[in-house]
Order: sequence, then structure tokens, then C-alpha cells
Amino acid sequence: MNRDCDNYNDKPGEKCGIFGVYCTDTKKDAVSLVYYGLFSLQHRGQESAGIAVLQNPDEGKSGAAIECRKGLGLVGQVFSDNVLSNLKGYAALGHVLYSTSGSNDLENTQPFVSHSKFGSVAVAHNGALTNADVVRELLEDSGIGFSSSSDAEVIINLIAKNYKKGLERALTDTIKFIKGSYALALLTDDALVGARDPNGIRPLCLGKLDGGWILASESCAIDAVDGEFVRDIEPGEMVIIRQDNVLSFTFSEKTRRASCAFEYVYFARPDSVIDSVDVYGSRIRAGEILGRESAVDAELVIGVPDSGIPAAIGYGRATGTPYGLGIVKSKYAGRAFIAPSQFLRERLVSVKHNVIESEVRDKRVVVIDDSIVRGTTSRRLVSLLKAAGAKEVHIRICSPPVRFPCYFGIDTPHRKDLISNINSADELCASLGADSLVFISVDGLLQSFDPDFNPVSASSSNNAGYCLGCFTGEYPIPVAGVSQSEAP
Ligand code: SF4
Repeated sequence: MNRDCDNYNDKPGEKCGIFGVYCTDTKKDAVSLVYYGLFSLQHRGQESAGIAVLQNPDEGKSGAAIECRKGLGLVGQVFSDNVLSNLKGYAALGHVLYSTSGSNDLENTQPFVSHSKFGSVAVAHNGALTNADVVRELLEDSGIGFSSSSDAEVIINLIAKNYKKGLERALTDTIKFIKGSYALALLTDDALVGARDPNGIRPLCLGKLDGGWILASESCAIDAVDGEFVRDIEPGEMVIIRQDNVLSFTFSEKTRRASCAFEYVYFARPDSVIDSVDVYGSRIRAGEILGRESAVDAELVIGVPDSGIPAAIGYGRATGTPYGLGIVKSKYAGRAFIAPSQFLRERLVSVKHNVIESEVRDKRVVVIDDSIVRGTTSRRLVSLLKAAGAKEVHIRICSPPVRFPCYFGIDTPHRKDLISNINSADELCASLGADSLVFISVDGLLQSFDPDFNPVSASSSNNAGYCLGCFTGEYPIPVAGVSQSEAP
């Protein structure tokens, strides 16, 4: 089955969610907490799930301190009661994966675990290394074999190679060697470790439990286990959590925050706060800004679920347009939908969304969506709305046109397949059959993250603390074979 950029989902794909727990009381069970944490991060990856656990000292059965269970499917499918009851320990590390085309194999599921005479280590990674091929080749030249195409295996092999120098040294040597985007969590024989790349592109935060610590991709997962959000891990920071202390240090001299803008637009759950930005609030503001930038006379504003809904509420507030629920989304036709035939795959947009005819009939309707990648969802929705009797359909999009690929861990199509790369907004509007189409401006998007953002005083929107690469072609870190600015 072709999953090239979630072709039939028509959205870029998030690749991973990470959740780790370290209980300072070794009698406590970290596994069930990680299980529930992963549930709350399921939106970040639905193709596989895994949990590595540091067993209680008196429960180590096989001699290996770290045990791991992983499989293809949703968290609830991979971890039955039976599997969970056999997995006990005071520290655990979990991962959910959304894999890219052709790589949804068991071999790529995370965490990866390595055992050696120097100790055991498990690695969970969210992001993409831009020098993975080079590092992989160097390791292969030194006789190290690989069983997957995952960057996490590159990282764990690098750590294992350096492990005899001690954990801290192995980690810093590894991290100095790898380039690209990474939010990393590691479990060792005595520690839970978190690290974020020097640009902090992918999110990772620290939480506190009564008698323990949490590392999570999003704060919503900390809430899910009744933890207390402490703070985001800073770009270029490593945190090492042990029984008696939490050590933090900066491993990179040059750090500059460039959080992925798409986290706020689409990926993250609205109840998360990432790098001090409340995701729900940013979506409401995006709608308000769209209302100021591109209001149109209409009787109804609706949002494409889920992330378009807060923006539609914001648009309604800013323009006085009544907000309504005009589009319904099936909760069960997600990315894990297994369409048994090409015909059914093409029908997925209709299976996923339907229109409430009584709400939209005879009205001029504004539809707010988070993004347009290939255009298949928007085209189908316009057609459904018009068939339901909407007099006019005006599309407003909470992100600027997606015209460039992502190299930092988000699954986007090739540039030629990004509909905004090959069409102007007017051409796209005509091809979608809409009455008007407007995207939020780049400055408007930055203002939705930070209401105090001032485009006049900002020397460059690229310095505002966010990666905007897929919108502007200006990437925060160099990518081999791609100029830092792909913008025309
Ligand atoms: S290029 Fe786009 S999707 Fe990728 S990290 Fe940057 S903002 Fe996020």
C-alpha cells in the first residue's frame, strides 16, 4: 500500500511521539504510565508502538536489564493486558511511529535497544538526521551492521560504539557527530536521558511526577498521567535523570530555536503547550488574523476538523460571521485506515468527512482548514458543500502555501506534488472549484504564535524562533544537496 506522504490523507505526516518515565522509587511501575502517555501521543504516529523497560533489579529475568516489546499497530493493539502484565520496571521509554513510504516494517519500530558488556541502552528518536547516510557508511566501514532504515539505529550504533567511554561521553560524542533534527530520549541501565537538537526543531518537554520524572513530545501526555509540566527541553540541551539527581547541560555552543511551525498548525494536540506557545490559542489567533487579512461577506464559517475548528471560531470572532459545525469527521478513518482497494483509497476523503446539509444550504460559507498539501481534501469538500446547497464556498487556510519539502522529520510529498508549488493561489482556487481562496501570510502565522511578533522590527521572519522551511524554502540547517534557501 502506498503511503507516500499519506497520499489519501492529504496532510503531511508526523513521524513520532516519545514518552519516558523514570520513577525514583524502584518499586513503582513506569510501564503503565508510559502506556497511557503513548495513548495521548497516538496522533503523532499510528503505525507502530514500542516500550523499553528497565526492570527492577530483582526482576531481571534474562540477565539483560532493559527489555523491549514493540509491534505494528496502535498502542492498544500492540500492548494487550497480557503483554503489559509481563513488562514491569521503574523506568520505561515508549515510542509511537508514523513511518514513511515503504518503511512501515517491524524492523523500523522503536525504541531500538543495544546490549553490550558496557551496558544496555534504548533509543527513541523523533526527527530526521541530515547526515544519516554518511554516519551509516562510516559505521558500516567499521564493521557495524544495520537491520533497518531508521535513523534511530544509526544513533544507537554510534552510542554503542562509544559506550566504553562512559555514558556522558558516549552521548556527547554521538550528538556532536549527528546533524539534523532530533528530539531524543534514551534509557540506560541507570538513567533516562533527553536531548534536543541545537535548533529545537522537534518538541520535547520535561514533566514531574510524585516520585518521578517524565520526558514527552507534548505536554498533553504529561497531563494524561497526572504529571506536572516543568519546562521544555531547550535547543542544544541534554537532561540526564538518575535516582538521586537531574543533570542538565548545553552540549552545543551555537543554539537558535527554530520550532517546527507545523506543530502548531496541524500536528500537535490543541491542549499542548510547546515552547511556551499554547497550541489551541495559536489556532484561534490564526483564525482571527485570517479574518483581519481576508474577510469575506458570508453567513457561516465552518472549520475542517480537527485543527480547522479553533481557527474557524477565531475567524467568526474577528469578523462577526456566525460559526457552525458544517463538516463532520469520522474518528475512525485515520491514517491507520487499511483501504483494501485503490477505489476505496480514493473514497477515503468522503469516508473521512461529510457535510451537514441543513447547516450549509443556501448560505455563503467560509471554510477554514489548516493547510493544503495536495488539494484532494479541499477539492472534495468544496464539491460536497456545493452539492449540499452552499451558495458560495470561500476557503481560508491557516498556513501559508506549502511549496517546499521538509527534511526534518515530517513526511511531505516531493516538491512536484505540492499543489501550491505548481499553482498560484488563483489557479488553485479555480481547480478546487471554490469562490475564493486566501492563505494566511507568513507574518500572520508568526503573529498567531506570538501576538507580540512585530514584522517591522523583526530583521527577518526567519529569525523569529520558528522553522518555516516548507513555506519559505529557508531552512534553519543546511541539507546536503539543497541550498539553504530554496526560495525562488
Ligand atoms: S520544514 Fe515545515 S514541517 Fe519541516 S520542520 Fe520546518 S516547518 Fe516543520
